[in-house]
Amino acid sequence: MTNDLRELVDIPTGPGAPEGIARTRDWFAQRLVKLGARVELFQGDQRPAWLGADAADPAPATLLARGPVKPTRRVLLAGHLDTVHPVTSAFRTFSIHGDRALGPGVVDMKGGLVLGLHALEVLTQLGAAPAWGFVLNGDEETGSFCSDHALRQIAGQFDVGLALEPAMANGGLVTHRPGSGQFLIEVRGRAAHVGRDFASGVSAVNALATCITRVAALADAPRGIIASVGPISGGHATNVVPDLARAWGNIRFPTPQIGQELAAKLQDLASPEAPDTTLAQGHAHIRVEVILNRPAKPLTPSTQALAALAQSVAADVGLTLPLGTTGGVCDGNNLQAAGLACIDTLGVMGGGLHTTDEWADLATLSARGTLLAIVMLRASAT
Ligand SMILES: [Zn+2]
Repeated sequence: MTNDLRELVDIPTGPGAPEGIARTRDWFAQRLVKLGARVELFQGDQRPAWLGADAADPAPATLLARGPVKPTRRVLLAGHLDTVHPVTSAFRTFSIHGDRALGPGVVDMKGGLVLGLHALEVLTQLGAAPAWGFVLNGDEETGSFCSDHALRQIAGQFDVGLALEPAMANGGLVTHRPGSGQFLIEVRGRAAHVGRDFASGVSAVNALATCITRVAALADAPRGIIASVGPISGGHATNVVPDLARAWGNIRFPTPQIGQELAAKLQDLASPEAPDTTLAQGHAHIRVEVILNRPAKPLTPSTQALAALAQSVAADVGLTLPLGTTGGVCDGNNLQAAGLACIDTLGVMGGGLHTTDEWADLATLSARGTLLAIVMLRASAT
């Protein structure tokens, strides 16, 4: 497992490395085909253009490898090939320091991908593999806009979902997560010379500032409702009344209903009329885009049962698996929203996620692989 992890971490798959994602996808396809899998590629959808810089990145394809047909419940392993570490980062190679492996994506989530692969290889060697699938996308860290359709389509073909995100710091399992959405507020005003013609200008920046205070007021952190604004941009010179201003932001919400309510409140900021009409009335024109790309993942009875099953396996292999939650979101959100019961922190233990101190605990690698393999087996039988 350590050798595979080294090989995978040394292939950059962060922003600016689409060829690394493709190469890693092929690497997994080759290994999984040896287990008798059929592989299928789902072309990536384009990200919404209004999301900004991300829109320029290519849309990576999603791989589904499907194991031989078996008369069991069908277990889907889910993982992402991408990391957050840009290809230009100085943090780019795998290294070992005592029990720790360091490197970009070593815990989030190349370690998890290695566990998934080895669990399938061992179960196949033992002749014990249930019906399985392994889905690998390449844009989880940027919101799974390109792979969401594929994930939803694939979710319907399986009975149990196990996502290979890193374990919580205490080894624990996340059973429920908030949903998350992205938004853009784009304001068009009328430019004017600040000194000569101030009164005829309509400031896009002033109108955006009003919108921002209204968005900030939507947040209610104790209820799990988050509304964060940033980045923002507006104007280009101090002596021009700014005619364009934009703010992007992120909302998080505990239930699908609250997500819809937040989206509606954001849409309420938008001007009801066309830009020309609004400006003729002396007001800036406000356009709002919202996408709820991560549905909330509430605790359901089937997820709860799956978590209990994982806890009993953990006890059998000498691990503890406390249950918890996090403000983070992942593909488990999308899979569960598509109807697949799903637990999503069955990857490796470690820390420093999304930092240049990212590490994985090599001492627990084999126990976590054993845990995953037996969870797969038992979940396929219940
Ligand atoms: Zn991850």
